[in-house]
Amino acid sequence: MSVTTGILYIVSAPSGAGKTSLLKALVDSHPKIRVSVSHTTRAMRPGEVDGVNYHFVQRPIFEQMIERSEFLEQAEVFGNLYGTSQRALEHTLAEGFDLILEIDWQGAQQVRHLMPQAKSIFILPPNQQALRQRLTNRGQDSDGIIAQRMREAVSEMSHYIEYDYLVINDDFAHALDDLKAIVRANQLQQSPQQQRFNPLLEALLA
Ligand code: 5GP
Repeated sequence: MSVTTGILYIVSAPSGAGKTSLLKALVDSHPKIRVSVSHTTRAMRPGEVDGVNYHFVQRPIFEQMIERSEFLEQAEVFGNLYGTSQRALEHTLAEGFDLILEIDWQGAQQVRHLMPQAKSIFILPPNQQALRQRLTNRGQDSDGIIAQRMREAVSEMSHYIEYDYLVINDDFAHALDDLKAIVRANQLQQSPQQQRFNPLLEALLA
C-alpha cells in the first residue's frame, strides 16, 4: 500500500524580495499547502506573533534543541539562530500536506542533502533599487542595518544557481501565478498522481 506524503518545497529569497507576502497568498489559495513555522532566537518584530511567524526562543533553549538533534536544519543568519523542527515537518508531510520551508541558502543546502526530493525555489527582486526600497519601506530597521542587509541580500542572491526554480517578483500577481504553476506542475507528477488516483488506476488496469 502506498503512503500519501506531501511535497516539500524550499523557498529562499533575500530579505525584502517579498517572499513572505507571496507565500501567504499562495497558501491562502491552496488548502493542502502549509508554511513551516521555524524556531528563532531573534527578537520579535512589531506585529509578529509567537507560534505564528516563528517560535521565538532564547539561545540556551535553541542550543538544547540542537544537542537533542531536534532540527532538520539550522543556521545562523544576521547573528541569530534559525531552525526547522524535524518532528513538525514529518508530521505535516505524513498528513498529506505539501510543506514550504522559508529558509536561507545554508539551510537549503542541508535540506537538499538530507531530502533530495525537495523542490527549491529562489525568489528575486526585479532590481537592486526595488530591493533597497522594500527594505527601507519596512521602517523597522536603522540605516546601518539596511546597508548590512543589502550586502547580505547580494550574498544570498549569489546562491540562486543552486535552486530548481527562479521567480522574479516584479509584479506580485505574476509572481504568485508563477508559484502556483510550480506547485501545480509538481502535484501533477506521476508519483503524487499515482498516490491520489490509486483506485482509478487499479480500476483502469483491471
Ligand atoms: P527574518 O528574520 O527576516 O524573518 O529572516 C531572516 C532570514 O532567515 C531569511 O533569509 C529567512 O529565510 C531565514 N530563515 C527563517 N527561518 C529559517 C530556518 O528555519 N532556517 C534557516 N536556515 N533560515 C531561516
